[in-house]
Amino acid sequence: MPLAYPITDLDASDCKHAWHPFTQMKEYLGNPRLHLVKGEGSWLIDAEGNRYLDGNASVWTNVHGHNDPDLNAALKAQLDQVAHVTLLGLNHRVAAELAEDLASLTNGVLPRCFFTDNGSNAIEVALKLSFQYWQLIGQKEKRGVISMRGAYHGDTFGTMSVGDSSGFHQRFAPWLFNAKIFSAPVHVECAGQVQTSEAQASLQELEKILQNESKHVACLILEPRVQGAAGMRQQPAGFLKSVAALCQRYQVHLILDEVFTGFGRLGSLTATEQEEVVPDFLCLAKGLAAGYLPLAATLTKESIFEAFQGDFSEGKTFFHGHTFSGNPLGCAVARASLKKLRPMIRSGQLTESASLLGREIDRNFSSHPQVSGYRQLGLTAAIDFSPADRRRHWPVDLRAGYQVSLAARKYGLIIRPLADSLLFVPPIAIKPEEIRHLVQAARSAVDEVLPKLEIHSLS
Ligand code: PMP
Repeated sequence: MPLAYPITDLDASDCKHAWHPFTQMKEYLGNPRLHLVKGEGSWLIDAEGNRYLDGNASVWTNVHGHNDPDLNAALKAQLDQVAHVTLLGLNHRVAAELAEDLASLTNGVLPRCFFTDNGSNAIEVALKLSFQYWQLIGQKEKRGVISMRGAYHGDTFGTMSVGDSSGFHQRFAPWLFNAKIFSAPVHVECAGQVQTSEAQASLQELEKILQNESKHVACLILEPRVQGAAGMRQQPAGFLKSVAALCQRYQVHLILDEVFTGFGRLGSLTATEQEEVVPDFLCLAKGLAAGYLPLAATLTKESIFEAFQGDFSEGKTFFHGHTFSGNPLGCAVARASLKKLRPMIRSGQLTESASLLGREIDRNFSSHPQVSGYRQLGLTAAIDFSPADRRRHWPVDLRAGYQVSLAARKYGLIIRPLADSLLFVPPIAIKPEEIRHLVQAARSAVDEVLPKLEIHSLS
């Protein structure tokens, strides 16, 4: 039964007043728009009652599905207590409880929790803490940052500076500080089958940079195991451990950006835990509050916290804080989410889901004429498109990935493209039949759109 929403009014308001993030508005306004009004588990429902599997997990955040009764109850209970209290010089109950929960992610090795409200901010905090720490202990020359080719850590000036996503950041290059970039390893796997893997060159390049420059480097920042925004670019198991060992040897802080990989995305609570590595800073956001509310956290060591202690006149205070940092509603949902997620991980459900996703992708796309590559790790996957003749390519404005994602809606799927690739990032609690629907709907959209684009290919 269609829902009774005034779709034309809604569309008119959107067209007249909105400016959507990361969106070419000319393209948006020139195509059919989708107005979502309700969520149920892994599904989103539009203003006309059509159902779509959320293959983007609402920008990689959703853990237990939409409208989850337990998370809703936790949110409503907190709402009856207090909706917001600042953490600037004050405390509220659920922030303290959640900070204790998060300390358990590293068995207490990172016991200090600095709350913020989005992923970029969690990274900004880690960078600023690292910079200030080296100043406070008298090593002012340690100011530089190392990051990896393809890195994406957010959209603020600091996070753009340490990123390497030229498509997103190039326009702002004149305002960014320099970070030293080392090349990424090459690793491709799907359904547990490794197609190619080479990490030595990357590690050697990193070691060379550290040998020459570590005296002037504060920190190294890395998205462990999978660089999401680079197109689900993978690293081999063990790579993170080698990077961590180099950071330790050369006395450089390790900042792990688990904004995307945390909270079940790779089958465990963190990639840090999987790889048995303890960074100096662990940045969490997206899935932390299960895709319900904006919440982020930067975890760090007691020894780093201690360096910031002193009389006010010593100027050691950490001056960073956003209005909604550690909002109680977000913290309450995050606690309820963690409580459900731990047994889900223990049950083996996520391992099975990841394996099914990999097998379905492999089955549908391994010999597809317009699929030039594909990869999957945990509940992350990507497929890359190109004309059947691999020496040719499509003009950028043909927007192959975008056209496939628009067509996918007809088959009951919301999925985000990245240039000529499609990114698979479903809710963590997705069910087996929904995984099959996700991949089948993507396949139908690919088959509908891509053969028609062949004639446009350029040599
Ligand atoms: N780090 C990573 C690895 C991310 O994927 C993202 C967002 N996609 C961010 C940081 C930035 O998070 P936010 O959009 O919440 O600022």
